[in-house]
Amino acid sequence: MAMSLVLEKKGCLALRSIDAVPELTATDVRIAVRTVGICGSDVHYYTHGKIGPFVVEQPMVLGHEASGVVIAVGRDVTHLKVGDRVCMEPGIPDPTSRASKLGIYNVDPSVRFWATPPIHGCLTPEVVHPAAFTYVLPESVSFAEGAMVEPFAIGMQAASRARIQPGDIALVTGAGPIGMMTALAALAGGCAKVFVSDLAQPKLDIIGAYPGIETINIRNTSAATAIADATGGWGADVVFECSGAAPAILGLPQLARPGGAVVLVGMPVDPVPVDIVGLQAKELRIETVFRYANMYDRAIALIAAGKVDLKPLISATLPFADSIAAFDRAVEARDTDVKIQIEMPES
Ligand SMILES: [Zn+2]
Repeated sequence: MAMSLVLEKKGCLALRSIDAVPELTATDVRIAVRTVGICGSDVHYYTHGKIGPFVVEQPMVLGHEASGVVIAVGRDVTHLKVGDRVCMEPGIPDPTSRASKLGIYNVDPSVRFWATPPIHGCLTPEVVHPAAFTYVLPESVSFAEGAMVEPFAIGMQAASRARIQPGDIALVTGAGPIGMMTALAALAGGCAKVFVSDLAQPKLDIIGAYPGIETINIRNTSAATAIADATGGWGADVVFECSGAAPAILGLPQLARPGGAVVLVGMPVDPVPVDIVGLQAKELRIETVFRYANMYDRAIALIAAGKVDLKPLISATLPFADSIAAFDRAVEARDTDVKIQIEMPES
């Protein structure tokens, strides 16, 4: 019997068989999963049993950052064939919904997202997925990179919302995985330079190794001082808030230039104070990001073109049999770990 990584309840993981994979409809593909990245949300469901309104009330398969190989195609599928190497967009909207018709399917209230209760995730040998949300990986893009497309798509969404102009100076507050993805997407999107601030030096060392990225350790210098120094007191054209930390959010107006943009990517656990007048006094444009829409093709194209290299952000790869250990390592949240991936056995 095929094993899945099942979150039984808060704090309790098991490798065991669970519900059968659904039938393949005319518009679906069946995929043998190959690589799955562990995301902060997977870890949070493991350690806390819930994220906001989403509560784990019954056993759920974890994982939503996946690549794999197509092993069967539905009758009406034309753009995929058996043997194609693919990655999958984990959120499936209702294609006839009002949000989908507007192209903003990420905010479709009826979206079903892998490993968001009660929907099972993809740490399982096979999934059935809509072909329309399944994307071919070019020869040059590995399964490991394919499984990085999901978190990178969030950075892509942030860079797109920012409406970057060529030569912009950006600041990313927070060097977690999504902050790093956002910094790389902002560079690829035309920024001349991207500053990344954090208080964990090992994280800054990882992202600071990329050309075009400069780091600010806020234990030594405040982000506001460093950005003022770097821009002659003017401020960053775009500030991407990726920490979700209350002091960073309160301090946003000091970081952006007059007329600049602030993109809220990080998610504070609780409501936090915001300096409205500070934002108004510079007429800052505020954008928010929730997952992504129409970013997979672009993300894959950038990776395939060699303009974005996500490989240095893969910190460890563990076999599926060790996936509980992989999760326990993710819970440790080592400063030197960006993305931990799990490899499924080749069937
Ligand atoms: Zn994720």
